[in-house]
Amino acid sequence: MGKLTGKTALVTGSSRGIGRATAIRLAREGALVAVHCSSNREAADETVAAIEKEGGRGFSVLAELGVPGDVHELFLALERELKERTGSVTLDILVNNAGVMGGVAPEDLTPEAFDRLFAVNAKAPYFLVQRALDNLPDGGRIINISSGLTRVANPQEVAYAMTKGAIDQLTLHFAKHLGPRGITVNSVGPGITDNGTPVFDDPEAVAAMANYSVFGRVGETRDIADVVAFLAGDDSRWITGSYLDASGGTLLG
Ligand code: NDP
Repeated sequence: MGKLTGKTALVTGSSRGIGRATAIRLAREGALVAVHCSSNREAADETVAAIEKEGGRGFSVLAELGVPGDVHELFLALERELKERTGSVTLDILVNNAGVMGGVAPEDLTPEAFDRLFAVNAKAPYFLVQRALDNLPDGGRIINISSGLTRVANPQEVAYAMTKGAIDQLTLHFAKHLGPRGITVNSVGPGITDNGTPVFDDPEAVAAMANYSVFGRVGETRDIADVVAFLAGDDSRWITGSYLDASGGTLLG
């Protein structure tokens, strides 16, 4: 029996990258996992298929975050699917993983792009947490995917890093708010992690990126998924309001 048998989990943005690895990892521990993305049902279904191939349980939920009505739409589908499979709408584990990056020089960032970054990366997680409060049982788990860029400067990503700073604040304050219910709230800060985008096919680029980690390699999605799985389980019960550095020592300087 896995450590999360009988639990339910939502991993936002789990059609690929870190989210996909996390969804698969949580399902491997026995959780029933809601695999979420904005619109690519095929990719979400691929994550579900990978879960089922290992004997786990999952289902897809589509909803674009960062637009009006986003959280309502997501929870409408989520609760319908949970009810069908478990007879209740209890959500034990919420992983706020979906995110978009900026990659724009500070001089060139438009107000529209700034708003979009905050809408997807900061506002949506806030209201997902708020909406999930009725679904989360005592002892529930909220895990927010932050970034090492909250600790080191990269001017191309100033607005993105600001959204992740907001995520860390979400973690801090909700950890105190939800402590009396035994719900833990933590941030995980990945460093450069191979999410399958084309840059990770370029050996020169990968070698350069690997230099940031004291281990001399880029992160793999499972490096982050394992940390999330730890925080999702009972072993982490005494940890809340934390920022877990999952950057392979990138922040050590
Ligand atoms: P990917 O770009 O590989 O995947 C992003 C996921 O989020 C996809 O499933 C995507 O689905 C979903 N998503 C993006 N925007 C939206 C939206 N508006 N509404 C709904 N779903 C959305 O991301 P990574 O795996 O690289 O990153 C995952 C998290 O980790 C992010 O929060 C990121 O900021 C953070 N991170 C990543 C690092 C890295 O090096 N990879 C480093 C530090 C932090 P769809 O395609 O359908 O929109």
